[in-house]
Amino acid sequence: MNTTTHPGTALITGASSGIGAIYADRLARRGYDLILVARNRQRLETLARGITDKTGRSVEIVTADLGQPADVQRIEALLRSDASITMLVNNAGVGGAAPLLQSDVDKMQAMIELNVTALTRLTYAVAPAFVARGHGTIINIASIVAVAPTLLNGVYGASKAFVLAFTQTLQHELADKGVRVQAVLPGATRTEFWDIAGHSVDNLPQAWVMSGDDLVDAALAGLDKGEVITLPSLPDAADWHAFESARAALGPNLSHDRPAARFGVAR
Ligand code: NAP
Repeated sequence: MNTTTHPGTALITGASSGIGAIYADRLARRGYDLILVARNRQRLETLARGITDKTGRSVEIVTADLGQPADVQRIEALLRSDASITMLVNNAGVGGAAPLLQSDVDKMQAMIELNVTALTRLTYAVAPAFVARGHGTIINIASIVAVAPTLLNGVYGASKAFVLAFTQTLQHELADKGVRVQAVLPGATRTEFWDIAGHSVDNLPQAWVMSGDDLVDAALAGLDKGEVITLPSLPDAADWHAFESARAALGPNLSHDRPAARFGVAR
C-alpha cells in the first residue's frame, strides 16, 4: 500500500536564481509540485526542465514583475484560486549596500514595493485559503539585517524588519488555525544578490559567506524542527530566545497613563 501523501504545490517567488532556485530543487525532492515566479522566463524554463527531469514533479512557471501592481494581482488571483497550493515561499527580494543619503529614493520605494508590499499582498491572498483548509505553510525570506539594520542599506534593513515582524504576527494569529509560518534570516549568502546590490560578495570576509545550498538546507531543517524564526548561522538557538525574552520583558512598561519619571514631565 502506498502510504505517502502528496504534499501539494509550493509557489516560490524569485525562483529564477539564488535561494529561490534552491528552494525549488529541495521542495521538488520533497515531493512538492511547483509554481515558480520571477521575471526571467528563460531561467525559469531551464530550471523547471531540470527539476522535472530529476524529480518527475510538475513545474509551472509564471513570469511576473512583483514590483508591478498588476503582476502582483495576477499572482494573488492564482494563490486564491489554485486549491492545490499548500506552501508559499516569499523569497523575491532585492537589497542595497549604499548609505541612505547616497541612495535614490525611487529605488528605495521600488525595494519596499517588492520586499514589503508584494510579500504582504501574496500572504493576504493565500492565508484565508490555508485557514479554511486548516493547513498550509508560509515561508518568508527575511535577513539578518532585520535585527542588524545598520549593516547594509537602511531601507533594506527596515524592509526585512517588516518581514520579521509580519511573520511574528502571522504566527501569533494563524498558528492555532493549522498554518505553519517561518521567517528565515540568512546572513551573507553567495548569490547574485550582492552584484545587484552593488557590493561584490568576494569583498566580504569569506568566513561570513554561506553557500545557497547550505542556507536552504538549514532553513528547511529549521522548518522541520518547528522553528518560527530560523537563523541558519546562529550556533545556539537559546541566544535568539534570550533576545526575544528581552523584548517581551519590555511589555509591562510599553504603555502607561503618564510619561516615565525620568523625563521629569509627569503631572
Ligand atoms: P538573487 O539570486 O538575486 O535572487 C533574487 C530573486 O528575486 C531572483 O529570482 C529574481 O528573479 C527575483 N526578483 C528580483 N526582482 C523581482 C521582481 N521585481 N519581480 C519578481 N521577481 C524578482 O538573490 P538571493 O540571495 O537568492 O535573494 C533571495 C532572497 O534572499 C531576497 O529576499 C534577499 O533579500 C534574501 N537574502 C539574501 C541574502 C544574501 O546574502 N544573498 C541575505 C539575506 C537575505 P528575476 O530577476 O528573474 O525577476
